[in-house]
Amino acid sequence: MFMNTEFQRELQNRISDLKKEGLYNKIKTLESPQGAWLEINGEEVLNFSSNNYLGLANHKEIVKAAQDALNKFGIGPGAVRSIAGTMTLHNELEKKLAEFKKTEAVLTFQSGFNANLAVIPALVGREDTIISDELNHASIIDGTRLSGAEVKVYNHVDMKSLEEVLQSDCKGRKLIVTDGVFSMDGDIAPLADIVELGKKYNALVMVDDAHGEGVLGSHGRGIVDHFNLHGEVDIEVGTFSKAIGTVGGCVAGSKVLKEYLKQQGRPFLFSSAVTPPDIAATIKAVEILQRDDKLVSKLWENGDKFKEKLKEAGFDVGHSETPITPVMIGDAKTAQELSDRLFEEKIFAQSIGYPTVPKGKARIRVMISAVHSSDDLEYAVEKFKKVGKEMDLI
Ligand code: PMP
Repeated sequence: MFMNTEFQRELQNRISDLKKEGLYNKIKTLESPQGAWLEINGEEVLNFSSNNYLGLANHKEIVKAAQDALNKFGIGPGAVRSIAGTMTLHNELEKKLAEFKKTEAVLTFQSGFNANLAVIPALVGREDTIISDELNHASIIDGTRLSGAEVKVYNHVDMKSLEEVLQSDCKGRKLIVTDGVFSMDGDIAPLADIVELGKKYNALVMVDDAHGEGVLGSHGRGIVDHFNLHGEVDIEVGTFSKAIGTVGGCVAGSKVLKEYLKQQGRPFLFSSAVTPPDIAATIKAVEILQRDDKLVSKLWENGDKFKEKLKEAGFDVGHSETPITPVMIGDAKTAQELSDRLFEEKIFAQSIGYPTVPKGKARIRVMISAVHSSDDLEYAVEKFKKVGKEMDLI
């Protein structure tokens, strides 16, 4: 017997409410690898829903690197690194990432989510204050909750609001934390200004660069490189699950930060390491980025073109500064209907509603990649126009 039937009924009611509000997430099943096009229900659909910015998730060289590592190191990491030991592969990746990001040291985690859960509670606690952008990612919010620190929220990317918070009574150590690129809007945190304020008010600065890696800066080195702030940001969190195309996360910063997190970062101490093929694949992805930045340039070219065309067609694409293209709708049910109608036209562009975005700000988030062709983008623009007109959105 599962949970008691009364509680099961309550869960069913909660699910029904989500459906009524247009907030029930219908997850598609993919029958093909990630790429510009996907196979879903036996049909080819144009993929606008993944974070596979550079098309690396199914890149031949990366798949080969994973296969070689599988043959050499097997599949399992054995246990947590602090007990079972660290494979040479993990050390190699950390060294390579530190070089790539031009930082002293990097420690890898199982995911970006885990990296945030590790680093925030390890650095600040009940006696301290976290100062957080109001649109920060859920994993930052959960990390701040786990830390027990007092949390003060400033208005989204608003430096006046941030300074007001810094001037208020903040107990203990102050940690300013922000997403680098905000994943639902595509805007970029004004990191140089945040660093200035951090210095002025003696606060640590942490940036989560999940959507900046492989996208911003020279060769996709990320937001710190974009603003040329090497050595000035205390903590940089990253993920391999987006532009890098694999899975895993990391914290970049000083050598002593890395050493401390290896002793005190709970997801490092209590959750097993990423598997050898994933690590080898990530090493290869970083090598590909280091070698040339053609994919990064193509991503931007595609993103700029698509945003411009949708704007011309009359859609509200918000204020994105990156290839992320939100198509603002507002009402969650209408956003879901638009996504469903686009799917009938062979475009997979997922609608996003509360709690991923604030209530009343539902949207379709179009994720452009370097592997979309001009024809793909033209096709999509025509379909967006057709469906947009039919639904009276433009
Ligand atoms: N931080 C941000 C800003 C993100 O967008 C995401 C992914 N949605 C994460 C962290 C989590 O990364 P991962 O998928 O590696 O857990």
